Amino acid sequence: MTARPDLATLDILAIAAHRDDVEQTCGGTLLKMEQRGYRTGILDLTRGEMGTRGSAEDREQEAAEAARILHASWRGALDIPDGRVESTWENKLKVARVVREQRPRIVILPYWKGRHPDHYTASTLGYEACFLSGLSKVDCSAAIPAAVVAGVPPATLRERPQDNRQDAGATRLAPHRPFKIIYATLYYDVRPTFVVDITEQFEARFQSLLAYKTQFSDQDAGKDLFPAENEIRSRIETMARFYGMLGGVEYAEPFLQKEVGLVDDLVMIPVKSI
Ligand SMILES: [Zn+2]
Repeated sequence: MTARPDLATLDILAIAAHRDDVEQTCGGTLLKMEQRGYRTGILDLTRGEMGTRGSAEDREQEAAEAARILHASWRGALDIPDGRVESTWENKLKVARVVREQRPRIVILPYWKGRHPDHYTASTLGYEACFLSGLSKVDCSAAIPAAVVAGVPPATLRERPQDNRQDAGATRLAPHRPFKIIYATLYYDVRPTFVVDITEQFEARFQSLLAYKTQFSDQDAGKDLFPAENEIRSRIETMARFYGMLGGVEYAEPFLQKEVGLVDDLVMIPVKSI
């Protein structure tokens, strides 16, 4: 285990617009990092109340189960309306509050282009919230906190259950800026700058997606659920194989970083050229 002694904070926080986005785009990577001894967390910006199948409550239970399968230490959900993720000041403060509470070194965001407006807006919103979170004069202690779906609230929140938010904010919500922001690109056709080998985690990641029974089972009432499940599996597997092929492994998840890669030892650079 290489986890940091300060168990109240996360090493990696994945932020996404909808419940099940993280399971589809970077769930294998989160699980792999947990297996390496890092503490991982998930922040869903919305609660899925616009979904045609199942209620927000159903989806909350499913999200908790998915977090358990991915061994996430914490999962929270904000109250931003589903289908209306907007990069407003208010929303940025809500996300910044979570960043200050969880203090991740790495933040995973969705890629900033896409078909669904919630996805690409979540990218900008997340980036700007990470920036604001590092500014000492920005006070986000009054922003509505994330509802805890799995894991426990930040330590000082548990110690101060009363309405003592301003006080708690003064001690707890110190500025924090993640060291690194990377983008999960699976939803968009863009060449990733790196892929993470999830061959060992692929099966569990698939199971975490199936935890959303209201979304991925009962695709057609009266029919056996296996055909639908097989179809989902084949789509997920094809994508994972494609990105795995780019990295010379069986299954992988794609990411993009804005920065250049820094190399110390040419002999250690992975992925064969010819
Ligand atoms: Zn989504």
